[in-house]
Amino acid sequence: MTAPVILLLGKDGQVGWELQRSLGVIGDVVALGRAGASVPGIDAPLCGDLTDLDGISRTVQALRPAVIVNAAAYTAVDQAEAEPARAQRLNAEAPGVLARAAAACGAWLVHYSTDYVFDGSGDRPWREDDAPAPLNVYGHTKWAGEQAIRASGCRHLILRTQWVYGVRGGNFARTMLRLALTRERLTVVADQMGAPTGADLIADVTVHALRHALTAGQGSGTYHLAAAGVTSWHGYACVLIEEARRRWPDAPWRVQAIDPIPSSAYPTPAQRPRNSRLDTTRLRQTFGLHLPPWESGVRRWVSSVCADQGIIS
Ligand code: NDP
Repeated sequence: MTAPVILLLGKDGQVGWELQRSLGVIGDVVALGRAGASVPGIDAPLCGDLTDLDGISRTVQALRPAVIVNAAAYTAVDQAEAEPARAQRLNAEAPGVLARAAAACGAWLVHYSTDYVFDGSGDRPWREDDAPAPLNVYGHTKWAGEQAIRASGCRHLILRTQWVYGVRGGNFARTMLRLALTRERLTVVADQMGAPTGADLIADVTVHALRHALTAGQGSGTYHLAAAGVTSWHGYACVLIEEARRRWPDAPWRVQAIDPIPSSAYPTPAQRPRNSRLDTTRLRQTFGLHLPPWESGVRRWVSSVCADQGIIS
């Protein structure tokens, strides 16, 4: 039996990097970054640049993968307010092109979306069928990407996740550890609620869900994927820094206090939802999965960082 071909886009992002590892157990992974690559047996180089809509469509037609996993996106939430056209291209138009190409060759499309499709009102966890009402450009473009995928008719897994950290790229966790080494007092927003979710967890869940989908030929839909539990950015920072001090006691920590502040005291170009909690029941029940508490992944991430201390700089 030949292994299915899996086209991975955005191979070097936080989630893409982990997918390069995890997807290998279910298929032959052709992993592309923005620069694309040449692949034996295919004449023209494959395009991995999501701004090149013809290029990515041609790439799917040439490779005819069984699965496309799109981990590439415009993820600079504040910057998107100043670059809405570019965010729309990457987060909405490109997923639409991939979805139509997937439909044409019968491939599954795995795509990641965000808690930022919701407006953050209320205090119960958001379910997949709740009405989106994004507060910022990034959220609008991600919601438009979801709609384009659904409209294409391709079989898809849209996995909405949140507060992602990984061993590559910039993220809140790395910023907090760097600040704890350079400042005595930190102020961190305490009225936005969610669950820090590891890129490794996202990649592992993706493989389980995809394997189920490929084997059963069903499960196409939208799912919320986040670690279990809930905290604020302030609670997250406290756990990160406490764990880092425990693991790395000899580091030159400067931080003396971590003060909670309201969002109003930390204005940003993009407005963010207060209640970002995601209800993951559908994902867990459909695919028979257990999601670990957010603290366990964060503590593990801290120990990797402290084992490789250069990662903070
Ligand atoms: P990253 O920002 O770490 O990675 C995004 C990837 O997209 C990078 O590899 C980047 O490449 C690539 N990319 C950017 N522009 C292009 C382009 N023109 N063509 C091809 N690739 C491009 O994102 P994450 O791994 O954190 O996010 C993965 C998914 O999860 C995204 O869909 C995101 O919207 C979603 N998500 C992320 C959250 C988070 O907190 N990070 C929260 C909720 C959802 P390069 O390195 O060359 O720039």
